[in-house]
Amino acid sequence: MNSLPNETCKTTCPYCGVGCGVQMPKDLSKVSGLKSHPSSLGKLCVKGSSLHETLSIQGRLLNPKVHGQDSDWEHALTTVANKIQQVVKDHGPNAIAFYGSGQLLTEDYYVANKLMKGFIGSANMDTNSRLCMSSAVSAYKRAFGSDTVPVCYDDIEATNLLIIIGANPAWAHPILYQRMVVAKKDNPHLRVVVIDPRKTASCDIADLHLPIRSGSDAYLFNGLLTYLADNGHCDQDYIDRHTDGFEHAVQQARDDCSSNSAPFDNNSLADIARVCDVPEVDIAQFFDWFSQTEKTLSFYSQGINQSSSGTDKCNAIINCHLATGRIGKPGAGPFSITGQPNAMGGREVGGLSNQLACRMHFEKSEDVDRLTRYWNAPNIATENGLKAVDMFDAVERGDIKFIWIMSTNPLVSMPEADRLKAALLKCEMVVVSDCLEKTDTTAVADVLLPAASWGEKNGTVTNSERRISRQRNFMPAMGNAKPDWWIISQVARKLGHTDAFNYQHPYQIFNEHAGLSAFENGCENFPARDFDISGLANLDERTYNDLQPIQWPVNKKYPHGRQRFFADGKFFTDNQRAQFIGLSAQLPAAKTTPELPLIMNTGRIRDQWHTMTRTGKTDRLLQHIPEPFVDIHPDDATQYALQQDDLAVINNDNGKIIVRVKITKSQTHGNIFVPMHWTSEFASKGRMGVLVNSITCPLSGQPENKHTPVAIKKY
Ligand code: SF4
Repeated sequence: MNSLPNETCKTTCPYCGVGCGVQMPKDLSKVSGLKSHPSSLGKLCVKGSSLHETLSIQGRLLNPKVHGQDSDWEHALTTVANKIQQVVKDHGPNAIAFYGSGQLLTEDYYVANKLMKGFIGSANMDTNSRLCMSSAVSAYKRAFGSDTVPVCYDDIEATNLLIIIGANPAWAHPILYQRMVVAKKDNPHLRVVVIDPRKTASCDIADLHLPIRSGSDAYLFNGLLTYLADNGHCDQDYIDRHTDGFEHAVQQARDDCSSNSAPFDNNSLADIARVCDVPEVDIAQFFDWFSQTEKTLSFYSQGINQSSSGTDKCNAIINCHLATGRIGKPGAGPFSITGQPNAMGGREVGGLSNQLACRMHFEKSEDVDRLTRYWNAPNIATENGLKAVDMFDAVERGDIKFIWIMSTNPLVSMPEADRLKAALLKCEMVVVSDCLEKTDTTAVADVLLPAASWGEKNGTVTNSERRISRQRNFMPAMGNAKPDWWIISQVARKLGHTDAFNYQHPYQIFNEHAGLSAFENGCENFPARDFDISGLANLDERTYNDLQPIQWPVNKKYPHGRQRFFADGKFFTDNQRAQFIGLSAQLPAAKTTPELPLIMNTGRIRDQWHTMTRTGKTDRLLQHIPEPFVDIHPDDATQYALQQDDLAVINNDNGKIIVRVKITKSQTHGNIFVPMHWTSEFASKGRMGVLVNSITCPLSGQPENKHTPVAIKKY
């Protein structure tokens, strides 16, 4: 299917959404950064620079397995296809679900989405990216009419006010953080504000840290919006020419602040300081810097997105940029950073259950029609499918009889992971494609399909700044492992869709995807969509193999890609104007109680990636932090009789975990932090997903992983 290179392979790091370029020599001895990659300029963080240490066969799933027995591809694929056929016949297409991952390559994602939404006839194709950035997607769409990231990494060097909100790039996006450090050193005008309940490593470059009350972000940014409006700091000309809804949004923020249900009296700085639980003088400083700095970049991530009001929080930030016209210009804009290497690619191909391919929508009949014709689809889905949490709830109810989990480990990462486990054990068929044999999720699979891993797979990924890069294969797949696109295509062919899934190489899939993205009527000046890579639609295998990193769109108008959107003030709404969103700030849905007095926050650590399937293989990376832990404030440690390095039980109604106590003033009183990475393989009682509640943002479906009431005691 793919030939291997004879020389150093230029590829892309499989970890975070920064998407750094990697070079792997032929002898696989040591990776290095790829200097020619514009997103990373030859740099790699400690995870990326350890990639060559993670290529072993240890733990790999080498053969298909059916009901625990080694099998062959023919039997395993037939088993899967037969079950899909039977379930669709007996219960309809909505009894089938696919659950994918931001680790899938764009070509894998495209084929899975096509099979589910065009041929099986359901939109029940969702992804672990739902847990990562779906609130950002919903908010961009509400404000711009499209899920468009308007900025790029170069804005880090161009900005004079960098606001890091609910993110810890020093650990989670290290190469971007390195750029921030250098920018801070080189630019005497650059101020950095970190807004985060925790004092993280990213605070090392902060001129101001606002350790706000967990979940109070929208109060802060609603307060900023009214401050800007009341003090003459808005760009009224920009507002008049390019936006709708400004007065309503400001009024809503004011009403919200003065309503009986809100903790404000009159929306003063003192009120905002009180609800956010930070000194008034610091709020005043932040508002003053924002109002005075034209080049303002808001850089936000899961601390904003993973919330029961995540979409509103994102829109509260975007509102402030629209009010000041700070969007589309160098160094200015709202920048939602993605967590996974191909979360953005998933957004492009329709990997979310409320999207069609190429960022088309169920709500537009012309989009559904276009897709039906393009795919010659016999059974196109016509309405949104189930989002991740709802999807697993449907498995629990027995409404979904067949689920195919691809390249992800939801029994670690999903909320209420133990309840999910019980649900999957009851499901008629659970299929898992993975490169590892023993994970929490493969343990409950009826059929296991061995997937090719990084270095063996060949395709494309898109990073947080919309840059498409090649992930190239440089070693043969181990055992009988196959690329995900091949596995999915083979099942589709066994379902009778031979012509539509007759792919021999990923470049054919990429071409189909790029061709679909072309604007049908050629209306380039006012496209109905932002995503157009028609300039990449007719690559032959050699050109595809040589494809250089490029930011979409790539078309006649932008043959070399495009750094920023919206400089012209034209958006993708029907009237081309951006939309302010009037919103009521909300504190998190789940409240502490006397029985559950602490708030558990979750997130990444510096040297591990997701469920440690790859990073857990290197001793070097394990040395940083070798076991799951809880960061706790000294006062809380005293209150709960905990000493440094004790083992502690953290519990709530969902279950319990056991972790090592780390007492630190980086935590605020009443808040604890637990890393997201540990699985049963590495720590039998360290899975944080067991505790997280299945509370989601009603607009995005993203769960509230950052705010779980818990109790703690010595083990
Ligand atoms: Fe770059 Fe992220 Fe990989 Fe580190 S983990 S090398 S920052 S892509």
